[in-house]
Amino acid sequence: MVRTILGTPPTPRVVPADVFDAFGWCSSDVLEWWRPDVWDASADVTAANPPRMVFVMRKECDFLPRELARVHSPGLGLENEWALAPYAIDDATDELHARRVAPGSLFWLAAADLPGLVWGLHDWSHFHNHGPFDARAMTELQCDTAALVWLFLNLASVGIGDADWERVRRSLAGIAASRFADEGASFDAAWLARERLVEIAEELTSRSSRRSSAAGTAARVP
Ligand SMILES: [Zn+2]
Repeated sequence: MVRTILGTPPTPRVVPADVFDAFGWCSSDVLEWWRPDVWDASADVTAANPPRMVFVMRKECDFLPRELARVHSPGLGLENEWALAPYAIDDATDELHARRVAPGSLFWLAAADLPGLVWGLHDWSHFHNHGPFDARAMTELQCDTAALVWLFLNLASVGIGDADWERVRRSLAGIAASRFADEGASFDAAWLARERLVEIAEELTSRSSRRSSAAGTAARVP
């Protein structure tokens, strides 16, 4: 198994202010990610829920739907650990905010392929930014932006290259465009353009360059 601490610094809001009622109510910092030794970094990211991804609970939690983590995440040696039920991302987004429970204090991410990691990062953004979800496509756009920026910042520790990232970016841009189409709204390709995302990532990097951080370290666990 491989444990990686991914740096997830707060990303700027890229959508209208009224999309969220509590944007950045909790500052994201890192996401602890575990994967099996062998994982699939080549799988395509689609709109489907990734089957081998789950947020594992660090401690007892009685306010969110839960399922046994090992059911969703074989190969990690999980036994009786609980995980957030995969259908309950919205519940977690609401309840973590309502109870002011920092996401990182409750969850780590188990993901066995690239789509799982990408949607895990996307959901990590939901957990730190609360909104009424009235503007669904815009809400998701913010989380897609964060996921792509965070993935870009962590390419080396994730162990993928720029071409993989670009492939993910194109997939998420396509998914985002179809959400806007569903709402009868137009999608501007500039929103998830490579240059814009890289610019945000570089801004975050320069902002944190003076801070020491545990981010970006990977450790192989026996
Ligand atoms: Zn989402």
